[in-house]
Amino acid sequence: MKTITCDILIIGAGPAGSSAAIAAAEKGMDVLVLERRAQIGVPVQCAEYIPVPMVGQLNLGTGFVVQKVSKMRTILPDGSTSDMAAPGFMIERDRFDQTLAGEARKLGAKFLLSTRAMELTEDGHAVIRERTGKTGTIAPRVIIGADGPRSRTALWCGAPDRNLLPAAQFKMALCAPMNHTEVHLSPHIYGGYGWLFPKGGTANVGLGMKRNDTHPGRIYNLLSEFTEQLKKEGKIKGDPFGSTAGWIPARPLEKAVYGNILLAGDAAGHTHPITGAGIFTAVSCGRMAGTWAAKAVETGNLDTLMKYDREWRDLFGHALTRAHKKRQLMEEEWDRFHQIIKSCWIGFREYYKGGSPL
Ligand SMILES: Cc1cc2nc3c(=O)[nH]c(=O)nc-3n(C[C@H](O)[C@H](O)[C@H](O)COP(=O)(O)OP(=O)(O)OC[C@H]3O[C@@H](n4cnc5c(N)ncnc54)[C@H](O)[C@@H]3O)c2cc1C
Repeated sequence: MKTITCDILIIGAGPAGSSAAIAAAEKGMDVLVLERRAQIGVPVQCAEYIPVPMVGQLNLGTGFVVQKVSKMRTILPDGSTSDMAAPGFMIERDRFDQTLAGEARKLGAKFLLSTRAMELTEDGHAVIRERTGKTGTIAPRVIIGADGPRSRTALWCGAPDRNLLPAAQFKMALCAPMNHTEVHLSPHIYGGYGWLFPKGGTANVGLGMKRNDTHPGRIYNLLSEFTEQLKKEGKIKGDPFGSTAGWIPARPLEKAVYGNILLAGDAAGHTHPITGAGIFTAVSCGRMAGTWAAKAVETGNLDTLMKYDREWRDLFGHALTRAHKKRQLMEEEWDRFHQIIKSCWIGFREYYKGGSPL
């Protein structure tokens, strides 16, 4: 069995993994990124919205942008609406992920595609398997687990469950161009919401929700009902011409450092527990993880890695913790939907007020 050595092994070439690779490669590290997919970013499992400031921060051009949106409209079951400024871009997510990976490559990071991380040996080596069945091991100094919602790296670390929510989405034709995103809240979509995000002449129409024994709602039935409702409202037309699905972590981990392993992005539950948005935090936390990993390798001091936990918590801890508490409340009190929903959704002023919403 062939063993490859490297400074930093990154598992997953999504936004978190490639951002970590950029940060570490910039510091001159020997970086290896494993990606189980044959093509980065394909298939897309995303509603493809990113906030405006991210594009400036990345400084990688706008080749992945499809259109701009200015606000988010929240719609309640009685038809009442609430608008919130949410300037953002609708993107081609596959192109976005490929742009990040391309930048990491330019800086010297190596990518192994169609290659999956399988297990961690007792001496800290990662066992990998190519799609052809060929296996090997990697002996890194530091590992960054950026392998998404169903992270194998998080399992290796014994990290707690991240309350994964299922999400499903259709690609539909829009009746008329839109310059805002829509979020539809309903007591039928337990602990989640339906979305209509415009993308030029098309739209990503999807639904993410919590499922349990008391609320066993079938996601594709609910999504079909939701698309019928949007058709009646004259917003979309025709049949779906594409679909995707995925998992959204809704509980952030308290710590994302386990020995010489750092978790970033969905693997660490860095996704917002109420909105499910995770690209911005994945990029930011990925970059931090790459930077701290490089510092630990440079200094030979693995204790430095703990600073990663401090940094991501300083930046995102407050928002993620509040959203997690709101989610707990929402899931427990869903039967009181009409009383609680405004304090549990970011589009309402009540969400940001302290004290008990009950
Ligand atoms: C339906 C849906 C809609 C969404 N819409 C939005 C949105 O509009 N805006 C937003 O901000 N967020 C959205 N999200 C969330 C967003 O997609 C994630 O938060 C984001 O992708 C997290 O990036 P990541 O790099 O952590 O993980 P991922 O993007 O999941 O990347 C992980 C990568 O690791 C690879 N991998 C996994 N296991 C292994 C392994 N064992 N070995 C090698 N490679 C492996 C995967 O193939 C993948 O490429 C949505 C999620 C879903 C499911």
